[in-house]
Amino acid sequence: MTAFWKRKSGGAGSTVVGTGGPGTPAEKLRLLEEFEKSGKGWFWSTDAKGCITYISQSAAKSLGRDAASLHGTRLVSLFVQEKDESTSTQAGHSERTLPFLMSMKNTIANAELRLDIPDDEVWWSLHGRPQFDADGTFTGYRGNGEDITEERQSRQDASRMALFDSLTGLANRHHMTKRLESILASYKAAGRSCAMMMLDLDRFKQVNDTLGHPAGDELLKQVAQRLQRIVGSNCEIGRLGGDEFQVILPDMDDRGRLGELASRVIQMISQPYSIEGSRCVIGTSVGIAIAPYDGVSSGELVRSADLALYAAKGGGKGQYRFFSNELKDEAEERRMIEEDLRDALAKGQLEMHYQPVVRVEDNTVTGFEALMRWHHPARGPIGPGVFISVAEETDLILALGEWALRTACDNAAKWPETVRVAVNVSAVQFASERFPKVVASVLANSGLRPDRLELELTETVFMGDRIGAEETFRSLKSLGVRLVLDDFGTGYSSLGYLRTVPIDKIKIDRTFVETCTEKGSNNQAIIAAIVNLAAALAMETTVEGVEALDQLSLVTAQGGTHVQGFIYSRAISPDAVLLNFERGEFRIEPSGPQCYRPNRRTVFRRIGVIHEDHRYEAMLRDISRTGARIEGMLNVPEGTELVLDLGEGQLAVCIVRRSNDAQQGVEFEMPLISDGAGGFCTRHRISPYALAAAGMPLTALGPGASQLALNEGSRSARPAFMQVETSGTKGSRAA
Ligand code: C2E
Ligand code: CA
Ligand code: CA
Repeated sequence: MTAFWKRKSGGAGSTVVGTGGPGTPAEKLRLLEEFEKSGKGWFWSTDAKGCITYISQSAAKSLGRDAASLHGTRLVSLFVQEKDESTSTQAGHSERTLPFLMSMKNTIANAELRLDIPDDEVWWSLHGRPQFDADGTFTGYRGNGEDITEERQSRQDASRMALFDSLTGLANRHHMTKRLESILASYKAAGRSCAMMMLDLDRFKQVNDTLGHPAGDELLKQVAQRLQRIVGSNCEIGRLGGDEFQVILPDMDDRGRLGELASRVIQMISQPYSIEGSRCVIGTSVGIAIAPYDGVSSGELVRSADLALYAAKGGGKGQYRFFSNELKDEAEERRMIEEDLRDALAKGQLEMHYQPVVRVEDNTVTGFEALMRWHHPARGPIGPGVFISVAEETDLILALGEWALRTACDNAAKWPETVRVAVNVSAVQFASERFPKVVASVLANSGLRPDRLELELTETVFMGDRIGAEETFRSLKSLGVRLVLDDFGTGYSSLGYLRTVPIDKIKIDRTFVETCTEKGSNNQAIIAAIVNLAAALAMETTVEGVEALDQLSLVTAQGGTHVQGFIYSRAISPDAVLLNFERGEFRIEPSGPQCYRPNRRTVFRRIGVIHEDHRYEAMLRDISRTGARIEGMLNVPEGTELVLDLGEGQLAVCIVRRSNDAQQGVEFEMPLISDGAGGFCTRHRISPYALAAAGMPLTALGPGASQLALNEGSRSARPAFMQVETSGTKGSRAA
């Protein structure tokens, strides 16, 4: 195009004869003609009725017409009729439509119009001025126009990019915030609810580090696709950045359904991925908050969901958690743990304790699992379930892991020759290049016979660098140590690697044992299947987490030979282990409850109990899905209907089934649901909007908020039962 103009302007300079020099009308006309031909723009004019009297040939061409055939056509008929009263302008604000402008004889400035042609989207920008003759009579329009299709397209792409995450195509953070704000604003008036799920991938960093960033990107895309498949189409999914995702679920406040959805999301995301020929496995944690209960503004709701997410992460891998006011700031908590953990080793705050593994046949201890214990000087004991995951997110795990290995081997070297020690190895540690050397050095220093050392690995070691992993397996096997697959059956459950990797033992996860005694549970069959599978592959098995006698007999009936669980012993100190060996052979009789009581949680929490129109204080002693034990009211007859106020708007209607002095066993009218952390919550809550109507401020419910609403007007009522002091009730009073 530039070349064209150069050539022509050169030509114009040399052929001025006769047709007028520069600045003459003839020259102007020529320039306009050239301009029209260039396709950069064109001209048009109409008569007073708005019918075309002139239009550039190039403009007519983009309509698929000849210029002459357009003469007499109404200009406005070339364009798609705008539906609303306005036409958009470049700046994005609204303006009057073309027919309106023309009828008012207004100037047309940069009107963006779509041509009325089939199967093609062509946009013009139109400019024009009304023309008047000497008497001031309107004679029509003259103007120019240009094709802005491409420009418009790139403008749209840009705004799409401003709204969407270019990697996954999901909405971006900005867009999600806007969506949430507008949903919450419109739902507030209607008293509707809206749930929010916050997701953060577990072990994503490892994939990025071991397989590289392109693999990480590919993984994020696949995660996005899976999320879209699980979550319904009326929900909005976004990627907030990094490995953080968010889901907005309008009109959702059923925590039962939300919990099920969260479990499904966790399950789906935890299935293996195939990335550039490598198999990789990640997990996810999910935090859930629901408006208006956990926040009424988008800021509040997101903060609540974030706190729930951190709590879920703090609870270990692959969990979901509902927001509750009791959640501490788990992010802050983890930061503090990380800080203190850095010094814990140097300051001697860490210890290894040992949990016996027992041969059921004769109750003989055949080995111990080494479990790390941290006694924090200010906060007391902190479980490895909490601090190991913090250590895994930093490089701390390498130092901790090496220390654990050394300490355990040094201790075990003092035990009888027949007794083994099992040490947990984190996937991060396993992936480190030095790992086989560390093991070799630890064995040499402690003098422990290699086949007395068992390394407990989880299925996560199979993710990522496969070749590297196979090499590590070979080096470890050549050292003579035994390899154990821990937590079997929980995560990824691909049996493929059992054939290819030299595993000596499988540990059947605690979750199978937990409910194996329940009617209708297929966990018995699973235990039997794993035991038989292991036997077929010449591997041993240990069943973890046996607590009750009924579980023990069931596990042995299914072929389990070795058991590790509270029924024999918890982890004990190294001194205690030595003391037992000094006394002779180490045997433990199983002892524990006759029956395992599934999911009954011992708690010690102050709650409110509402009977008729009086409110009592009580202690919650234990709680399960279907019932609870409360203490604090005297002689409540069986069959009495009560309402438990569990806090935060959770009211549970129940019936007294057993009553003994100040203690009652109650059965819930509607079963509770899991809170994601082994606890229970009600499916629904009373809405803060309802409370607002009763005079409560419209903020997320604080503890005891519902109490106020239900207490009003009950002062004068005579209580039916005597309130009694229990060891935990604060400020209890005789009524
Ligand atoms: P894990 O490897 O599955 O260890 C078994 C866990 O189950 C231990 O929890 C043990 O106390 C618990 N347990 C054993 N029997 C029973 C039972 O009958 N009932 C119940 N409810 N629990 C039982 P602990 O000590 O809290 O350890 C939690 C996790 O922390 C371990 O799970 C392991 O993954 C990790 N961990 C502990 N020590 C180390 C370590 O030195 N290095 C690494 N990398 N991870 C460790
Ligand atoms: Ca273990
Ligand atoms: Ca385990």
